[in-house]
Amino acid sequence: MFSEKRSKGIKNPNIKCQGLLLPIAAPSGTGKTTVCRKLLEYSDSFAFSVSCTTRSPRPSEKSGFDYHFVSKETFEEYIKNNMFAEWEEVFKNHYGTLRSAVEEALESCKILLLDIDVKGALSIKKLYPEDTLSIFLLSPNDEELERRLHFRGTDDKKSIALRNARIPDEVKLGEHFDHIIVNDKLGRTVEEIINIIKRR
Ligand code: ADP
Ligand code: 5GP
Repeated sequence: MFSEKRSKGIKNPNIKCQGLLLPIAAPSGTGKTTVCRKLLEYSDSFAFSVSCTTRSPRPSEKSGFDYHFVSKETFEEYIKNNMFAEWEEVFKNHYGTLRSAVEEALESCKILLLDIDVKGALSIKKLYPEDTLSIFLLSPNDEELERRLHFRGTDDKKSIALRNARIPDEVKLGEHFDHIIVNDKLGRTVEEIINIIKRR
């Protein structure tokens, strides 16, 4: 599975294949993180881009696995040192994709999953157009999205309101993605993403 060496987009003549960047964006609560975890279980060809964030960890989150949790000062230092491929302020916190994670994945022929906001995903596409396949997830309907956010149980009312306020702008930008998938049945979504990658 996914073992064929890709020849397109090779930048370094010494390496025989090139990885793929797969930013997955969606309104909060749609299922980005869940879908990424399922894809990681599916094949070793996938790797996860561990972003840096100034947000505090949730009880279940591990530093270096879910995120690199850093202070605002450290994040600013990273911006100054040009360490981010992209970064954004989302829900009043900063989130950034490490350039090193992207370049390592491309050179080691991995499919890098980026659980990332809509603007960040489009920045990755702009920066690495040949190497990026952008996926936008939608929930089947508004009630289901609301149910998933509540069911996840990680956000208070204020945080849910902040997340909901962004949805119209996020959905508008969704049309610029390579593929839009309705995340209804989880298994079906994962299968669809795998088929998209195989077709490429
Ligand atoms: P996001 O990363 O987009 O904010 P999560 O992956 O945290 O969203 O998912 C939010 C909640 O919805 C979680 O409780 C998750 O288990 C659930 N969920 C994700 N995908 C599905 C799906 N296809 N069907 C039902 N529940 C789902
Ligand atoms: P959360 O706080 O729920 O983990 O994430 C909030 C939002 O930030 C989500 O939409 C998530 O995908 C996005 N995000 C996480 N990491 C990054 C990143 O490195 N860059 C950008 N632009 N967004 C990110």
